[in-house]
Amino acid sequence: MARLTGYLSRRGGLHPKEATGLRKATSLLFDQQSRAEACRWMNAQGYRTTHGNEWAPEVLVRVLSNPRMAGLDDEGEPIEGFGETVLTPDEYRRLLALFAEQAEQQPPAREAFDYLLTEGLSECGLCEWNMVGTRVSSGGDPTYRCPPPRAGQASCGRVRINADRLEDSVGEEVLAELLRPGTQERLVHLLADLRAEAEQLRAHAEGAEQRFAELRKMRDVLVPSAYEAAEKATRQDMRDARSRLRYLEQLVDVPIADVWDLAAWWKSAPRKWQRALVGVLIVKVRVLASGRGRHRDPSARLRIDWR
Ligand SMILES: [Zn+2]
Repeated sequence: MARLTGYLSRRGGLHPKEATGLRKATSLLFDQQSRAEACRWMNAQGYRTTHGNEWAPEVLVRVLSNPRMAGLDDEGEPIEGFGETVLTPDEYRRLLALFAEQAEQQPPAREAFDYLLTEGLSECGLCEWNMVGTRVSSGGDPTYRCPPPRAGQASCGRVRINADRLEDSVGEEVLAELLRPGTQERLVHLLADLRAEAEQLRAHAEGAEQRFAELRKMRDVLVPSAYEAAEKATRQDMRDARSRLRYLEQLVDVPIADVWDLAAWWKSAPRKWQRALVGVLIVKVRVLASGRGRHRDPSARLRIDWR
């Protein structure tokens, strides 16, 4: 994984020259200078990104938005032993607030599209990375695509599909499934399973403090690297559990208990409920590369993993 600008390594250690550049850029931003102006100043002073490139506004925002700028982890908690930081937590929070404010002032460039199959419901058939909803050009059609690779992300960026084609195709398959006899009963079972899983995760999340406390007791008997690894794994496990729980909570609330005509319900359900029902029925939709014929039936490019 690439080093973060301003630090000598992922685990901290200030890079004094880079940190100075980032701090100065931050003060320019606080002084109402534009991101482009802050970048121009950095480039003119000879500051470069860790890849040796000139600074661009979106890169500067991405780097400065990283919680490690203030020595914080992804949950916003101070990282133990991180050492001197580029920004103080206060400066970091002020900067995030500034970015949020600027984002609100930007007029919406395009009409928002409510994607049905994001949040891990669709994946790239080549690299198995989750597809993201995007428009390839401004004003272009909503599209699902495998995100382009970047530092720390080994996605291939080679598969994309028009959102309407993908969603219509999956919608037809879902409708066919809903029309099948016995689906109502099957849904009741699936929902019961998902609720049970959510219940377990909730208990698991509630036991987090206990597990961290037990881990800390081991601190003196473990070599530091083993302790760090165990702590990191426990943190990651908690993050995964919480995000899965949030996802499941959206699914299990889908209001279909008293619905007798699922097909009619599906056709008129708001996007949010459709998305939840798809999540109950489908583990994942794999989108294959388009191959030779560009205008083939989109369903030929899909592999649906039913729950
Ligand atoms: Zn891919």
